Amino acid sequence: MSFDFHEPASIAEAVALAARFGTEARFLAGGTDLLVQIRRKRVAPRHVVSLHRVPGLDTIDANGEIRLGALVTHRALERAPAFQGALRALVEGARVVGGHQIRNVGTVGGNIVNASPAADVVPVLLVLDAAVTCVGPNGAREMKLDEFLLGPGETALRPDELLTSIRFPAPALRSATGFLKAGRRRAMEISVVCVAVWLSLDGDDRCAGVRISLGAVGPRALRSCDRPVESSPRTVSRSRTSAHRQPTGGFSWKHSFRARSGQR
Ligand SMILES: Cc1cc2nc3c(=O)[nH]c(=O)nc-3n(C[C@H](O)[C@H](O)[C@H](O)COP(=O)(O)OP(=O)(O)OC[C@H]3O[C@@H](n4cnc5c(N)ncnc54)[C@H](O)[C@@H]3O)c2cc1C
Repeated sequence: MSFDFHEPASIAEAVALAARFGTEARFLAGGTDLLVQIRRKRVAPRHVVSLHRVPGLDTIDANGEIRLGALVTHRALERAPAFQGALRALVEGARVVGGHQIRNVGTVGGNIVNASPAADVVPVLLVLDAAVTCVGPNGAREMKLDEFLLGPGETALRPDELLTSIRFPAPALRSATGFLKAGRRRAMEISVVCVAVWLSLDGDDRCAGVRISLGAVGPRALRSCDRPVESSPRTVSRSRTSAHRQPTGGFSWKHSFRARSGQR
């Protein structure tokens, strides 16, 4: 295994290197996927372009619309105060990625570009209706994450492009998110299946919208289509009643939604 190692100090330099070396180059973020693939001889890049010296790619901007730099780590997602309420699925997705060492260096950009069908943060970003920004020699372009992901290990990213950020709308006032993962072990295990949900209510406690995404069940994470939910107060009160009847150890539909949406 041998390659030339490059350490650009700006996005422009990183993109110029990618444009120069094309498919012979790979960007290196946390390296938790790339280095394993190099070691297992699944990829053999002649040039590795480290992103560690490129400034501005590791910030979380949560003033209004949310913007995540591609180099934001899973650990940073887990700890971000902005994600403890209605966006808690981001915390729940990030905190089950690998173990502490993996989460300290593994990035959200790497999770997306690696395009594993079992990537844990991807389903969460899909229900948040995220878009990705890619910068290439001809400038920046933005795509919906749902269109960016093509299949196992395959995305719409061009060889001369760098994924720089991910953005999604700020959570609506009466909305909540959740993420659950099932694996064979509780830690250091990829998902056998994972599910992310986004739900919003109108002023009468009726479900106004819902999005569901499933990971590890197809060639890429799948997202339900966006359709407004038709629910009458009657159907909601019926579902509330049945939710209270479930043997879930005191689960309260209303309490659970309020806790997740950060409402009192
Ligand atoms: C032991 C172990 C356990 C793991 N457990 C999980 C798990 O439970 N859940 C899970 O989802 N994942 C898991 N992973 C996979 C991995 O940790 C994540 O996918 C992580 O988010 C990858 O990020 P990274 O920064 O390390 O990516 P890297 O390895 O640096 O890069 C991955 C790929 O993306 C490309 N890339 C990275 N950043 C960019 C960018 N900004 N622009 C363009 N291309 C880019 C690289 O060229 C490479 O092809 C595990 C990995 C290991 C080794």
